[in-house]
Amino acid sequence: MEAITVESTLLNVVESESGFLVDDTNTNAVEVLRTESGLHCECFIAQLSSEECEHIRAVRDYMAKVPMQEDRPTLSQADADYYLSKVAELDDTLTANNESATKQIDRIKLWLEVETDKIQRKKDYYILALDNWMHMNEYSTKRLVAGTLKVRSQQPEIRIDDEAKVMMDERFVRVIPENRAVDKAALRKHCTDTGEEIPGIEIIVKPHKFSYKLNTGGA
Ligand SMILES: [Zn+2]
Repeated sequence: MEAITVESTLLNVVESESGFLVDDTNTNAVEVLRTESGLHCECFIAQLSSEECEHIRAVRDYMAKVPMQEDRPTLSQADADYYLSKVAELDDTLTANNESATKQIDRIKLWLEVETDKIQRKKDYYILALDNWMHMNEYSTKRLVAGTLKVRSQQPEIRIDDEAKVMMDERFVRVIPENRAVDKAALRKHCTDTGEEIPGIEIIVKPHKFSYKLNTGGA
């Protein structure tokens, strides 16, 4: 069998803080992580053999070519567009995974519902019989070998259906004093206008938010 050699220059490397994403446009991109013990790839080849896989080789080539962070090539518009299409592909995969998981979850939920219902009905027979037995004997607490039974009378629940009608009877009206609270809009305006951190607050600066919108109907 001939050894298959992959031209690592064909592999596209995307770098981040945690590692590198290596993709050859045909297969799924593979992540190569920076670890304490060096580069780590989770691909099939890297798991099976002690040899360096094509992904790690590609990362090494990439780092050898552009060793300093500042020297790393800037993205061309074509590359940016390609990356966005990759994001779209991954979004599709996420959606498919979610749909698949939801279907399975629905099945499991239905099974659980049916089983729970059966078990609960069986339980109810025993519970009813025990409840009746406690009442017949006028027990409030009864210790048995298997456990202890208790019967407790409960306070009635008062539900208000029409508040206005109830309020017409002064006996059941109370006056709540005027409430003092932070005027959040005024505080925000003051802080963003002046940058002043008044006593009792902390201004947390948030990083900018990146977003993307994909063209639908594309490949
Ligand atoms: Zn690999």
